Amino acid sequence: MTAHTSVAAEQAALERTKRRAYPAFIVIFSALVATNWLTREPFDLVVGYVYPVIVAGLLLALALLLSGRVRLRALEIGVFALATLALFVRNVDLLFRDELAPQVMLLTGAQLWSFGLVLAGAFIMFERRLAIRLGVGMLALSSLLTVAAMGLEAGRGQLVGETVLYLVRVHVLLVLLLILVAVATGLREQYHRAIERAALLEQQALTDPLTRVANRRAAQERLEEELVDGERRGRPLSVAMLDVDHFKAVNDTYGHETGDVVLREVAAALSATVRARDLVARWGGEEFLLLLPETTAGEALAIAERVRVAIAGLHPEGLRITATIGVAEAADGETAGSLLRRADLGLYAGKQDGRNQTVSDPSWSPRVPLTDQPGP
Ligand code: GH3
Ligand code: MG
Ligand code: MG
Repeated sequence: MTAHTSVAAEQAALERTKRRAYPAFIVIFSALVATNWLTREPFDLVVGYVYPVIVAGLLLALALLLSGRVRLRALEIGVFALATLALFVRNVDLLFRDELAPQVMLLTGAQLWSFGLVLAGAFIMFERRLAIRLGVGMLALSSLLTVAAMGLEAGRGQLVGETVLYLVRVHVLLVLLLILVAVATGLREQYHRAIERAALLEQQALTDPLTRVANRRAAQERLEEELVDGERRGRPLSVAMLDVDHFKAVNDTYGHETGDVVLREVAAALSATVRARDLVARWGGEEFLLLLPETTAGEALAIAERVRVAIAGLHPEGLRITATIGVAEAADGETAGSLLRRADLGLYAGKQDGRNQTVSDPSWSPRVPLTDQPGP
């Protein structure tokens, strides 16, 4: 799995989590707003008329979420806009309604938690940078409104020092909350980037840059693992060592770049021919190793033969390319080195015998008859 696909997978997982978690949030939040509405004071017009709109909006969002027909992002923007709008309508109402002046501290204090909730929610719904901007914007607007309201009060000579102190404290707390969440999410992002980098480095360390298949190191590690695994579960394991025939001549005649194209196409053909559980690796120069778990020598010979035929039919850059393949099946308790040596013996025998053929470890069985032997 590449670093890129792991990030995509993580995003998909995050979206699934959100789709499961949001309905609960919406239900709880609607219930809170509805309770507020039911127990409202008769004079409180905002609670009386705005809160039912909020509940209706949230229930609409819930229905859309459950129907699965709306994009999560659009829904998040909608809910955030609704919550922010409601918050500010309430804010303006509390700050600028004359008859409420004695209660303004109490009511603004009650606003604190919903403000904090929406601020924190922005960090869950949006990327960190956007959430910080939205949070700062909300706090700036709220501060402006507060200062304006206090200016009006002061103009009427009604401003109480206690109220000022209280409103300042509320805003300082909200700023602290914003900083806290921004720092926490920043740490989380740093951690994710470090994991992505590590995954990318690991992938690079195990991939051959020219052909994009596994490199020798990856093949060695996997072979050791598969040997242990096959032994433990009593399952067969085979390897096939492939070497492109007369490859030096390709380089010498058509140049190194053409040689590279041939190697890439051979690697792609190998990857396309084997099963997902198998491993294709560039063992070195123009040699490739196929690791075939759960595969007997007989089956491996058939697979290798399919590979050989595929390569013979490839014609990269219009060239006729062939390969010779040696196959061996791991014996009980056999080491990686010994298994590879036996595959190499088959390969060597095939080269001696004129190339373009699939040969099992000579100690195991006779050569496979050729099904497709292009002329010289
Ligand atoms: P044989 O049929 O016996 O295998 O003959 P051969 O010419 O394929 O064998 P040899 O081992 O002499 O040649 C391998 C060549 O592979 C030599 C080397 O220049 C070339 N080679 C190794 N790595 C690369 C590479 O990354 N790109 C290119 N273009 N050529 C490479
Ligand atoms: Mg070679
Ligand atoms: Mg060769």
